[in-house]
Formats: sequence, C-alpha cells, structure tokens
Amino acid sequence: MKRVVVPGEMLCVEEEFIPFEGVYTLNGVIRANVIGIPIYDTVNRRIYIKPIKNPKKPKSGDIVIGVIDRIRDEMATIKIIGYDIITPFKHIFTGILHISQLMESRVQNLHDYIKLGDFVKVRILNNYIPYITSMKDPKLGVILAYCSKCGSQLIKIGDTLKCTKCNNIESRKISVDYMLIKGK
Ligand SMILES: [Zn+2]
Repeated sequence: MKRVVVPGEMLCVEEEFIPFEGVYTLNGVIRANVIGIPIYDTVNRRIYIKPIKNPKKPKSGDIVIGVIDRIRDEMATIKIIGYDIITPFKHIFTGILHISQLMESRVQNLHDYIKLGDFVKVRILNNYIPYITSMKDPKLGVILAYCSKCGSQLIKIGDTLKCTKCNNIESRKISVDYMLIKGK
C-alpha cells in the first residue's frame, strides 16, 4: 500500500484534504513538495508527506535535483532534494538561482524560463547553505514541468513543452534530460 511520491505529483484536490507538511497547492490540486510517503489523515482531514531520509549533503560541483520554490525578478529559490529521485537527501536544502546563472546568454525575465513547481537539475557552486546553483549546461534545467492552465504533465516536443491534456504550449529552459519526451 505504501507508495513513494515525488515533488509535483498530484495527491488529491483541495476539497478532499487540508494541505499540511510537505505539500503545496496549485490550481486547487494538492501536490507533493518532497519525496516520501503520502499520509491521508482522515481523522483530521489533513494530508502530509512523511519524507524518506538519506544522510548525504550536497557540495560544490555536484549536480542535484530540486523544485522551484519561489521566483522573484532576478532570483529563484530551489528546494534541493537529492542527486536523483531515488536517493533523496535527509533534509531539503535551500538553493538560489540568480538570473545570471540561468544560461550563457543574457536573459531578461526568469519567469520565461522556469515556473513555480518545476522540477529542475542544477549544479551546486558552493559548500554552504543557501547553495548557489547554476543551470548553465544543456543537461541542466527543467526536467519535469506541469501545465500552468490545467496542472497536467508537460511532454517535450522539440524545443517546447506541450500539455498532455489541454495541448497548451509552454517554454522553459529545458534540460536534455527532460523526463517526458514525445515518442519515448
Ligand atoms: Zn494543460
């Protein structure tokens, strides 16, 4: 019965449970924010995630996976989860992505390249918290994203992302390691 969920995964809708720990709400849908086991607490009508633990800690040069947590004009914060989906860190670490570290060419607006809740692969540039991160590499960037209109998964088609449900087209700084590619 115990299944493991990954950040961004849909758990239920707002009407069913009250979001508690390790979850967030987007367009009325409650999603996991951490890797772990979802607990549907029917007594208190709460939903939360019991995280899976791993004692490692990222260091400079490491490539890690995280979720976009907050986006401001020139900076985004990332919840760093682990080296991959299978082996998450014991704790969620805070990472910072400055607009200058997005790609080699200069960009104007972070919102055109990443969105809240996106699953990203980044390189760590320092050895302390908050971790400074970079996306300047073809394999770095968004590896899984969800439709801003309906919340379904986006599939990579060429250089863009298309919603599997409503056909909405979105753009991101897409990693070559994007998880859903048309035809695969
Ligand atoms: Zn959609």
